[in-house]
Amino acid sequence: MDMPWHQTLRLGTYLFKQKMLRREKYPIIVELEPLFACNLACAGCGKIAHPASVLKQRMPVEQAVGAIDECGAPMVSIAGGEPLMHKQIDEIVQRLLDKKKIVFLCTNAVLLPKHLHRFTPHRNFAFMVHIDGLRERHDASVSKEGVFDQAVDAIKQAQAAGFRVMTNTTFFDTDTPQDVIDVLDFLNDDLKVDNMQISPGFAYEKAPDQEHWLGVEQTRELFRKSFADGRRKKWRLNHSPLFLDFLEGKRDFDCTAWAVPSYSIKGWQKPCYLLEDGYVDTYRELIDDTDWDAYGRGKDDRCSNCMAHCGYEPTAVVATLGSLRETLRAAVSS
Ligand code: SF4
Ligand code: SF4
Repeated sequence: MDMPWHQTLRLGTYLFKQKMLRREKYPIIVELEPLFACNLACAGCGKIAHPASVLKQRMPVEQAVGAIDECGAPMVSIAGGEPLMHKQIDEIVQRLLDKKKIVFLCTNAVLLPKHLHRFTPHRNFAFMVHIDGLRERHDASVSKEGVFDQAVDAIKQAQAAGFRVMTNTTFFDTDTPQDVIDVLDFLNDDLKVDNMQISPGFAYEKAPDQEHWLGVEQTRELFRKSFADGRRKKWRLNHSPLFLDFLEGKRDFDCTAWAVPSYSIKGWQKPCYLLEDGYVDTYRELIDDTDWDAYGRGKDDRCSNCMAHCGYEPTAVVATLGSLRETLRAAVSS
C-alpha cells in the first residue's frame, strides 16, 4: 500500500494491538457521512436520493467526534454528500487530527477552491477527489459538463497550497482496460497526486442508473487486463497488493465490512455503507446486533456482485499483516 511510512506504522501498530487483545471485530477506517446533500447529482450515487428532510440535516461536530471516539478507529474518511457543504467541516477535520486520526476528506472538488482557506496542510490529512475518468467520461459520470476541468484545477490549487491530494475512481461496465490505464496514468504521471483509490461500481438500490454495474467476472477481467505487464506497480495505488490480487481474481476473501463501518446522520449503518438494513446508535451495537455471517458473496443476493474496498480491503490488510511474505511484498510495493 502506497501510504506514507508514518501512517503505515500507525496502522500496523493499531492492528498488532487488536491482535494482542484478541479482538475479532474492530474498525480500521470509518466512513463518516455528516450530511447527504450534494452540489452534484451523479447517476451512480445512492446518497442524494434521500428525502429533502434528510438532505437538509447536518451532523453536529460533537456527534461526529464522539462517534469516532467511541469506535476507536485510527482512520476516518469523511464523505457524504459533499462535505464542503457542511459549515463546520473544517472544525470536524481539525478535531479528528488533534486526536491523531488519519483523515481523508472526500470531495467532488467543485467547491474546493472556495473552501481551501478553511484547512491547513497536515501530514495526516488529504483531500480525496472524485475523478471517474478523463474529461468526457468523468463529466458523463457526474452528469454535468465542465466538472472534470474544475476538479483538475482544484487539485492543482490544493497541491500548490501544500495539501496531500488523493483520488477515488469508480469503474462501470462501460469502462475498458484502456480507460482504466488512461485515467490512472493521467492521475499518477501528469497530475502527480499522492495516491489513487479504485473501486468497481456497486449496485446501490437508490442510484438512478441501475444498468452499468460490474459483475464479479467483469471486474476481474477489467482489472486483470488493466494491470497486465506489471503496470499496476508503477501506479501509486492506495491499496494492499493482496486487494489488487483480489480485484484481478488471483485471490478471494470473505467480507469483513465491520472494519470499514459507516456512520451518518442516521447512525451506524447495518451492515456497511452499501446496504441499508437499519441503523444503531453505537459501534458496539453495530458489532453485537448485526448477523455478520449473513453477509458477503454467496450469502446475500445483494452482495453477489460486490468487490468493494469497504468489504474486502480490510480482509486483505489483515491477511497481509498475518503473513511475513505479504508484509515484505507490501513494503516493497510502497
Ligand atoms: S459527488 Fe459524490 S455525493 Fe455528490 S452526487 Fe456525486 S457521488 Fe453522490
Ligand atoms: S459484500 Fe459488499 S455489500 Fe455485502 S456486506 Fe460486504 S461490503 Fe456490504
